[in-house]
Amino acid sequence: MPPKSRGPMAVDLPLGPLGLEAERGYEDEAVAGGISGFMSRWAESASRAATNEPARQAILRVGVMFDGYGDLDAAAREKVCHHALEAIRALTKGVPKTKRAAPPPSALAPNHPVTELQGVGEGRAELLAQLHIRTISDLLRHYPARYEDRRHIAELAEIDQGQKVVVEVEVIAQGRTVRRGRRQLTTVPVRDASGEGDLVWYNQPYRQQQCRPGMKLVCSGTTRIVASRPSIQVPECELIGSNQALNMRRIVPVYPTTKGISQPMLRSLVDQALERTPPLGDEVLPEDLLPSRELMPAEEARHAVHFPQSPGQADDARRRLAYEELFIIQVLLALRRRLFTQPVPGTKLPVPDSVRAELESALPFELTKAQQRVLTAVTKDLRSDQPALRLIHGDVGSGKTIIAAHALLAAVQGRRQAAFLAPTEILAEQHRRSLTEFLRPMGIKPVLLTGSLSQGDKDRIRKGLQSGDIPLVVGTHALLQQSTEFDDLAVVVVDEQHRFGVLQRASLAGKGKRPHLFVMTATPIPRTLALVAYGDCDVSVLDELPSGRKPPQTRLIASQDRDKAYAAVRETVEAGHQAFIVCPLIEESDSLQAEAAIARHEELKEGALKGARVGLLHGRLRSDIGANVADEFRRGEIDVLVATTVIEVGVDVPAATVMVIENAERFGLAQLHQLRGRVGRGTAQGTCYLVAATSRDNPAWERLEVLESTGDGFEVAEADLRMRGPGELTGARQSGLPDMRIADILGDTALIEAAREDAFALIDADPTLSAPEHEALRHVVHGHMPTILPLMRAD
Ligand code: ADP
Ligand code: MG
Repeated sequence: MPPKSRGPMAVDLPLGPLGLEAERGYEDEAVAGGISGFMSRWAESASRAATNEPARQAILRVGVMFDGYGDLDAAAREKVCHHALEAIRALTKGVPKTKRAAPPPSALAPNHPVTELQGVGEGRAELLAQLHIRTISDLLRHYPARYEDRRHIAELAEIDQGQKVVVEVEVIAQGRTVRRGRRQLTTVPVRDASGEGDLVWYNQPYRQQQCRPGMKLVCSGTTRIVASRPSIQVPECELIGSNQALNMRRIVPVYPTTKGISQPMLRSLVDQALERTPPLGDEVLPEDLLPSRELMPAEEARHAVHFPQSPGQADDARRRLAYEELFIIQVLLALRRRLFTQPVPGTKLPVPDSVRAELESALPFELTKAQQRVLTAVTKDLRSDQPALRLIHGDVGSGKTIIAAHALLAAVQGRRQAAFLAPTEILAEQHRRSLTEFLRPMGIKPVLLTGSLSQGDKDRIRKGLQSGDIPLVVGTHALLQQSTEFDDLAVVVVDEQHRFGVLQRASLAGKGKRPHLFVMTATPIPRTLALVAYGDCDVSVLDELPSGRKPPQTRLIASQDRDKAYAAVRETVEAGHQAFIVCPLIEESDSLQAEAAIARHEELKEGALKGARVGLLHGRLRSDIGANVADEFRRGEIDVLVATTVIEVGVDVPAATVMVIENAERFGLAQLHQLRGRVGRGTAQGTCYLVAATSRDNPAWERLEVLESTGDGFEVAEADLRMRGPGELTGARQSGLPDMRIADILGDTALIEAAREDAFALIDADPTLSAPEHEALRHVVHGHMPTILPLMRAD
């Protein structure tokens, strides 16, 4: 038996077991069966022997401290024992301790690890790391997902069905646990001054022990009325007088969390971190912005975002912090843009009006209004001595290639060099062919440079580029290799920018003096996201499809009905049109995907599409063979093209009217949108069948329904973003921009615009950030992009 001490309250105090526990290094070996059970039994009997009510509540509180003790790590156990001993000592003096232990004295810095916090040992630190919380700063930037207003205390008698409420109750009797199918249902009867009710939990039978008769609790949960008796479902509970300053009777934060880290735990860690970190020094934001944009001071926001006094204050804090995040991102973008577009002698191209006239007269169609507008902007860029940095954004089929042709032509006519960069060999070959067509009347012949050329050919072309004999080159990433040098590169056009990393973009820009750079993309992207992902570029939008063209109708069908899709393919072929079959996406491997396409091609040729001329296109074909297949399809010598995603960025065939996409659930929405843009490019209406190997009640099905309901790329992009989150799309990390933790790329439209305007104005006024009032901001910029400020010129 463990030794016992006798206190003045005629109660056995558990000092012996607690002492032993300390001696044994908090391994929970002081008492058979564990300290938790022992202390709970102790509290129950001791509370009965207590001589007054405050003492009884204090004893019950000590018992509760040991809930889950077995799951804690040694450091956390030590703290529990320490607090319990303090409370017990206070008891023996007859003074029930109701206040929390004083905050620990040592100050914390934002970059300290979370293990510096009381209550965080290695086990907990690992769980926190799953939430990407490693430092104090990470913890303070782990922002609430939402808040719960617990300021109002409801009465049991007044509550309605399905409300979120807080009640203050006393446990009337021991609860009970019963089985309901696979669930265990624990019910604890409680009362307040107005009446009686129950607390109800599922699969948490320990609650029955935890809630002892006589305990006073404040509980927050959702109400349910069963047989006119009110109950609080799955409540979060606190003993009255314990830590409730953080969890009850106020607006409480609700954080994203993970198993093993409770909301009260996070709240108390955040509270501790706020207490122990020094107040913020200088504002990062320029002082005059605070009043003009109605932003609260940073120090106030830092606290209020976690523990607001009112819903309005929470909104204001969130807005202030989101603004700061966006402002810093935009300052970095403004700096990057300024660096890239600093005027360079010899950048300016004269571009006589005849260049455009010549191109237009060679085209078999009229330019759309959008194309005309963008051509004008591009011409203006070319005539400036600031290198252009422009994103040309337009849905598949909006006619971006003409814009590229014009910019390239302008360089060649000015006796300079131009390069057109494509993400795949097949697309590079296609671009070479269409440019050859466009530019034939002007006597200009583009040269192709790709990785699959013979070494001899590559060497010859590289020589020609270096000497300046070759004015116009089309190619893949081979163009980016060190060994490719230019004599006088004046214009670079990059097609389907999303496939190139930012670094590659920079490496190409580094060739030649400082060429004008145009990047083209069909990837649908919400406008606000473009302001971040392409925030260092000017943006032009081709928001109009050539005459009479309509986005394809889209039908979502389940796998077992795929015959319907093949029937539509046969029908369209019989009517003299063409069709695409897109094979399932296999992200991990190009060659697996090619193999799957080969198998599918064999199967369809002999099966569902027997009799039709069925071709095959995948990324493992040699580029000239691939381009030939694409050509045969274009000339109508192939009826149905079985293909992998290589067609996403190429293969322009006006007579194709039907597309079938297999296992559509494996693709992103933006990618599907881009794929379906390949059909219906002529005047006939196109149809795209999305074959989904998933059932209607699956979220994946719902996701695909977006495509059925809209043909608008921007709407698709927003839906995609909402469902997947922005991380992947912005590629923020690889681009050197900080993460967004609180700003919402879809919701904060006005704020993004305001931050952008302010940031660009500030960098215009002080590009080196050398003004004394920009000291704090300079420091932040340096932390993200250490090399950029020394490169800035003040002019
Ligand atoms: P994108 O690259 O934007 O997807 P392309 O430049 O490949 O689009 O153009 C798609 C098709 O539309 C091509 O066959 C092109 O020749 C044709 N096209 C481009 N502009 C027009 C126009 N203004 N009127 C009719 N057809 C056009
Ligand atoms: Mg294109």
